[in-house]
Amino acid sequence: MNVSIKGDIKRNPVEETLISFFPEEKFVFLSEEIIDGVNIVSSMAGDILDLDVIVNISGKKVERRGGHRLSGDIKDSADKAARVELFKALCDATDIRPRWGIHAGVRPAKHARMLKEQLGSYEKAKRHLADEFLLDEKKAGIAVLVAQKEDKIIKDNDGRVCLYIAIPFCPARCAYCSFVSQSVGSAINLIEPYIENLKKEIETIARGLRKKEIKLGAIYIGGGTPGILPTDALAGLLSCVNENFDLSFLYEYTFEYGRCDLVTKEKLEILKGHGVSRIAINPQSMDEDVLKWAKRPYKLSEFIGAYFLAKETGFDAVNMDLILGLKGESGRGFLSGLERVIELKPQNITVHALTKKRASTSSIEKEDMGLFSRFNEMNAAMDDAYALLQGGGYGPYYMYRQKRSVASLENVGFEKGGTFCAYNVLMTDECADIYSVGAGAVSKVDGERIYNVKYPHEYNERIRSILEQKEKIFL
Ligand code: SF4
Repeated sequence: MNVSIKGDIKRNPVEETLISFFPEEKFVFLSEEIIDGVNIVSSMAGDILDLDVIVNISGKKVERRGGHRLSGDIKDSADKAARVELFKALCDATDIRPRWGIHAGVRPAKHARMLKEQLGSYEKAKRHLADEFLLDEKKAGIAVLVAQKEDKIIKDNDGRVCLYIAIPFCPARCAYCSFVSQSVGSAINLIEPYIENLKKEIETIARGLRKKEIKLGAIYIGGGTPGILPTDALAGLLSCVNENFDLSFLYEYTFEYGRCDLVTKEKLEILKGHGVSRIAINPQSMDEDVLKWAKRPYKLSEFIGAYFLAKETGFDAVNMDLILGLKGESGRGFLSGLERVIELKPQNITVHALTKKRASTSSIEKEDMGLFSRFNEMNAAMDDAYALLQGGGYGPYYMYRQKRSVASLENVGFEKGGTFCAYNVLMTDECADIYSVGAGAVSKVDGERIYNVKYPHEYNERIRSILEQKEKIFL
């Protein structure tokens, strides 16, 4: 789609607004006037912005022209006016209305919390999200509901930090994957040295935390697919954690097992024996044909068997991820899968909206995933998902949004009976320091981000400089 911007409006707010309508579109930005596409022309005099937004899409033309009085930071205020006018024009031109309005950030609940601090109450925060950021009432309500739930989790964490351990290996690459993860076929030889280096980084962080008397509250081992680790490597990694950290303040230890076809009694017992308290076994879909397309070709019987094996081994807190918008799965199909998952009664269920990242090397990069054409269907399915989950006793407790997601929808974690994963909240809303180890890991300490190298082979090659960098955090 061609987009022309003349004047003072920046490209980023325009592009973000367009993406919420057209997640799969590529935008070409031009400075001359165009016939098909979007024209934005603006001029500023003092605190007055003259703004013309002309949208001409699929033969439908909508024009919004007028003056705007700017306030606060003049440039930000002009960009916000452009977001609002473009959003309204696109709603009229497309007959769809993204539910999160012009809210472009990743963390709507964090935004609600900040607004509550500024405005004095969550009720006012909700009003502001609906009136100023054009969220529909339901989504504004969810942002506030989640923020309120998170408040208690953040308070109870009481300043403790989290440890994240990255296992960026998977048995095969899922069709929709856009993460940095290596399928084991091409990287099997990297695992053993990777785990040895990971232990060195764990020791470095543990030493630093002891030195500074920093309390560790939550551990999360994520991927990739941590369940891919061979039993010896898994036991060695977990022993390294137990031997090096003071775990007396730890209240949560999560292992994102991942795929059900990797679940074994032996590994589950190793996890349990080392104090892991929560695991995730993720079906992503409950339709075997969809799973085949997704390159996760396991049988549902395998998935259900793995879940009950985990329960038998004593895991009371199990999360299951589902993805809304997978190719070949209708809204109705997704919901019947969700019903089956709810029948299994896991403590946590996380609903993800399928995302298409342009930078991804995934095989779906070039395919039309119907993220635009299925807008209304997916929106309705997400609403029904909330209703089903809430009817089943689950409540939303953390959420985040990604660009280019189906119908511009959110990813949202549900829990029941206070079985939430605090790490998800603390990490997503940046409410605790996170010490992350491994390839692709990003630490956030004292408001600063510290990036490790992306790929396991780089990690193995550059472990010495990574350890030096980590030691400097604790100087
Ligand atoms: S399990 Fe996750 S990281 Fe691994 S290939 Fe699938 S989507 Fe990518």
